[in-house]
Amino acid sequence: MPVLAERMSRVKESPSSRVADRVRAFQEAGREVLPLTIGEPDFDTPDHVKDAAIAAIHAGETKYTSANGTPALRTAIISRLRRKTGQSYGTEEICLGGGAKQLIFLVFMATLDEGDEVIVPAPYWVSYPDMVTVNGGRPVIVGTTAAEGYKLTPGRLREAITDRTKWVVLNTPNNPTGAVYGEEELRGLADVLRAHPHVSVLCDEIYDEINFGARPVPSAVTVAPDLRERVFLVNGVSKAYAMTGWRIGYGAGAASLCGAIGTLQSQSSSCPSSVSQAAAAAALDGGREFIDRTVRIYTERRDLLVAGLGEIDGLRPTVPQGGFYVWTDASALMGAVTPSGVTLTSDADLAEHFLETSGVVVITGDSYGFPGHFRAGFALSSDTIREAVAGLAHSVSLLR
Ligand code: PLP
Repeated sequence: MPVLAERMSRVKESPSSRVADRVRAFQEAGREVLPLTIGEPDFDTPDHVKDAAIAAIHAGETKYTSANGTPALRTAIISRLRRKTGQSYGTEEICLGGGAKQLIFLVFMATLDEGDEVIVPAPYWVSYPDMVTVNGGRPVIVGTTAAEGYKLTPGRLREAITDRTKWVVLNTPNNPTGAVYGEEELRGLADVLRAHPHVSVLCDEIYDEINFGARPVPSAVTVAPDLRERVFLVNGVSKAYAMTGWRIGYGAGAASLCGAIGTLQSQSSSCPSSVSQAAAAAALDGGREFIDRTVRIYTERRDLLVAGLGEIDGLRPTVPQGGFYVWTDASALMGAVTPSGVTLTSDADLAEHFLETSGVVVITGDSYGFPGHFRAGFALSSDTIREAVAGLAHSVSLLR
């Protein structure tokens, strides 16, 4: 039996996959579950995107491409970045991944030396810390507060920076909180970074099109174009265009880093799928009809879920400004006792109580480095959301 590398002790399975296994086990036992765990759009990929993929297959676009993508996709990405940020990126400043997830992994692989530090504000997307540790880095988790909108402040950033800091991760809109950094907030962080030229920023903007605000989600490069060489933008087509299975993510930043990512890509996957690249180009080049329609629907669902959770004693939902999750403070329920006599002392106890008593599945706050909370997704039909809210109300009513 091959002995696993030491680095495998530094990475664990994603909590979302673990929860998915638990849900499957419940369903196999014939129990109904209401999974508020969903992390992907429940819409189908738009038809014009599927048609572009089919046309690419018929046109023979079924071979290896350049590691950093086809010219058509890179051009589509550059146009999208210009529309969003006002910045003109060159093709050598663009790179591709099999999803934004793989791309972020490759960024850390390409840049982290043993012991390099990456500042990760909590609550954080579950994968960042593990991606850092498996690549030899050290995640430096920096807490935020509800009063600060769960956002990193300039003061906390300044305190967390050391000589070993390589990256700070900014995720806007944030998974799990739905927080969006405003221009002023980004400006404040940029001021701190100007004093620390060895620190770069990984801006994960994968949810930027699922935006409930009246104005586009601001980007760090627009606010601080002088820092552009130190900002690595990450985006993709998974969330905005309901294309999670197509696995295309993209990055924009320093040509040297994009080149390094291309090298790693060429030695690992060769390139992301050629057919998916054609589909992604069609998505980025297409109109906004799909995004506008789905955001309208997400808005209704968000309001339904936030209102429903807000009426349950002991739960305090945060209204998300983007993404499709409601971050909910459940700390008031800690210490309560379930009908079977269990005193709730952890997020896992609470999640188990929800599952056992109403079949509702949530992702626990501690998975995001922020206990006493849970994430409830609303990429679900309104009926399912209503049922889940009723289930949670029932579960909470059983607590003493
Ligand atoms: N970044 C964040 C914050 C996410 O929530 C996700 C997916 O859940 C990703 C990146 C990865 O997206 P992709 O499907 O493009 O790999």
